[in-house]
Amino acid sequence: MLQLFIPLGFLGIVYRQIKYALADMDLVFKLLERQPEIQDAPTAKPLVLRAGAVRFEHVDFHYDSERAILRDVDFQIAPGQKIAVVGHSGAGKSTLARLLFRFYDVRAGRILIDGQDLRAVTQTSLRAAVGIVPQDTVLFNDTIYYNLAYGRPEATRAEVERAAEMAHIREFIEGLPDAWETRVGERGLKLSGGEKQRVAIGRAILKRPRILVFDEATSSLDSHTEQAIQQTLAEVAENHTTLVIAHRLSTVVDADRILVMEQGRIREQGTHRELLAAGGHYASMWELQQREARTMSEQEDTAPALTDA
Ligand code: ATP
Repeated sequence: MLQLFIPLGFLGIVYRQIKYALADMDLVFKLLERQPEIQDAPTAKPLVLRAGAVRFEHVDFHYDSERAILRDVDFQIAPGQKIAVVGHSGAGKSTLARLLFRFYDVRAGRILIDGQDLRAVTQTSLRAAVGIVPQDTVLFNDTIYYNLAYGRPEATRAEVERAAEMAHIREFIEGLPDAWETRVGERGLKLSGGEKQRVAIGRAILKRPRILVFDEATSSLDSHTEQAIQQTLAEVAENHTTLVIAHRLSTVVDADRILVMEQGRIREQGTHRELLAAGGHYASMWELQQREARTMSEQEDTAPALTDA
């Protein structure tokens, strides 16, 4: 009997490992929407992670050779710094995140983490060092516990619960009829954009990457949820090297440096104050968003009066 149990237990472990591996591939395919073509170099070594310095060195990139997406992008993020990237839709912001995770290779230039070219290190070690909170989080058709623990499958229950708490989603989960066992995803409970982002933040907390990339959702969250997510992110980003791809400038005011991208190039960079003082592209974007925010709040102010009438 014992002999039968051992192989079954072993099979269980193998099954779980395969399931995680498949889930991983599924996630990657969904993110990429294409077949993977990046391979480890035969000489690839594990990344030796030190303080977590990131350097984009004169990077050029295109998806299709007819259209350049990034041109001579050159910047660095010192360990523990928070750098924000802003710019119009299509400027190439999310592409920076994809390149840092090495979903694609640069066409020219280099990307270095702690002085090591991404192409010279194993993908497994790279992806352990970098955590991405994507714009749209993929949820698996499984329990919410599984979906959170996916950040680090070997995490203990207490660690998963703590991560959910830090991501401000624990209360929500525990208030569901099936709590942690609630099934989510396509065939389960559909989570809102804000809830999904919190699951992604929870995963990132569990993963404890040295380098964190936050790709802010383009779809607008309500301002209360957005503020809560900003707050959570600020807590999580503390002591991490952070790259924030921002769609709302309110997100970036506290960044150590802001890169303003236009058609694949960095047009301006500086702190929020410096860029406002420069009176360039960032300053006009800021003015525009402030005006939009004022119009929104005026509409919000008048809305209850209309309902009462
Ligand atoms: P947004 O603010 O809308 O998220 P972004 O600045 O992050 O935009 P990217 O997602 O980096 O922009 O895309 C930059 C350009 O690259 C866009 O014109 C986009 O159409 C193109 N692009 C993105 N992904 C691919 C792909 N897989 N194949 C071909 N072109 C792509």
